[in-house]
Amino acid sequence: MPQATAKLNAFPVFMRVEGEAVAIVGGGEEALAKARLIGQSSAVLRIIADAAEAELLAFIAANGAIHIAAAYDAAHLEGAVMAFAASGNEALDRRVAEDARRMGIPVNAVDRPELCDFFTPALVNRAPVAIAIGTEGAGPVLAQMLRSRIDRMLSPSLGPLASLAASLRGTAERLLPKGNARRRFWSDFFGGAPARAMAAGQLSQAHDAAVDLLLSNAPASGHIALVGAGPGAEDLLTLRAHRLLMEADVIVHDALVPETIVAMGRRDAERLPVGKRKGCHTKSQAEINALLIELGRDGKRVVRLKSGDPLVFGRAGEEMASLRDAGIAYEVVPGVTAAFAAAADFELPLTLRGVSSSMVFTTGHDLKGNSLPDWAKLAISGATVAVYMGRSVAAEVAGRLIEAGLSPDTAVAVVENASLANRRRFHGTLADLPSLEVRADLVGPVMTIIGDAVAGANFERSEPLAAHRHEGAAQTAAEGAER
Ligand code: SAH
Repeated sequence: MPQATAKLNAFPVFMRVEGEAVAIVGGGEEALAKARLIGQSSAVLRIIADAAEAELLAFIAANGAIHIAAAYDAAHLEGAVMAFAASGNEALDRRVAEDARRMGIPVNAVDRPELCDFFTPALVNRAPVAIAIGTEGAGPVLAQMLRSRIDRMLSPSLGPLASLAASLRGTAERLLPKGNARRRFWSDFFGGAPARAMAAGQLSQAHDAAVDLLLSNAPASGHIALVGAGPGAEDLLTLRAHRLLMEADVIVHDALVPETIVAMGRRDAERLPVGKRKGCHTKSQAEINALLIELGRDGKRVVRLKSGDPLVFGRAGEEMASLRDAGIAYEVVPGVTAAFAAAADFELPLTLRGVSSSMVFTTGHDLKGNSLPDWAKLAISGATVAVYMGRSVAAEVAGRLIEAGLSPDTAVAVVENASLANRRRFHGTLADLPSLEVRADLVGPVMTIIGDAVAGANFERSEPLAAHRHEGAAQTAAEGAER
């Protein structure tokens, strides 16, 4: 059975205030709060306060408000389009409300809903765009929470973009027939090149892109955003990543990106998993490159979602090169890379004063050759080393580093599923590291961090890595004893 939507007892409207007087009666905090709110509009503030507090006086001076420094009189409300009773004094507020009502001026009395003709919303201001939030009796805390949530969702460039839209509206209406063509233009305007240029702070490019869109009948050109999804926790996604996800027509994602993050996209967005989990490549890199180019040529807004940061072991280099060659616009949105998430989970300082002042991101997969890769030398000279995709080469990494002179006692931290609720932490030494390879219970992605700085981590919530080594190592020790 469909549920009936509850009725609103206060209906939101936008009231024209440009150049009009808004009267606020009161000299304290309440009056200042209202002055700040209304001060976001182009209304002329008239503040009636015989004893205004210093902060209010400063506000009045800074904002060019009119100050009537006299005891309140009904005549002070004359000509105002709305009035606020904000004196903090019940009797006076009531008088102001009654006067205003008699004079036909809508009135709001702070904290006295029974005296109010209207309520003020919590406001998200991206002038000329305004989002007003009303919660009726549910209280200001809820309103402020919603306000900050909505504020984070909206690009700071929404305001200038909307101003540009307003300035082009007449032209668009002249040039484009009503209906589909006009709708498509606006959708490309707010979601395409003009919006991107504005987000980058390029006002004149945004204007030019909009004019191009207006004059060409061609569909909008596609755009690919290579976006870092972070280590897995939804709330470690950046606000920009979130925004692009919500705008995307198509989301092309790797297997490591959790479903909850992919699901943040629009409901009608196309979702294309392209795999690339160890051992089960569903698409080759060449196929992925070709897919991105094809989507770009089709004019799609694509988010290419990669785990962690897209530029760290994400093969973004190849994707960017092929997009460049094909002349398709793209941008890169950074994400929290797995090493940072793992370090945070371990409260592990990646650089530590007097101990480690550099860090290495490596895979360990380049250890196969005979020569020691550069990073091994850095490790020996004290760098903190983060090993990506290191589980299957753990023994090789440990063996080669020890061979090269790093102490077998060097501290090691391992995190499986960093940032996620099912994360597991292990600590030990370089000598324990080979046990990683034989652990069948580690099925999630694993980050290994090696170095003296690791000793600064918090080991209260981690299990010893060595527990496993000992089972396997018992025999080795026994063998050793026989010799
Ligand atoms: N671009 C990604 C790395 C992709 S390579 C990033 O910046 O994080 C894949 C490797 O990243 C995995 O083998 C693992 O070593 C590491 N990884 C990714 N997510 C992880 C997580 N939540 N916990 C631990 N390691 C992770």
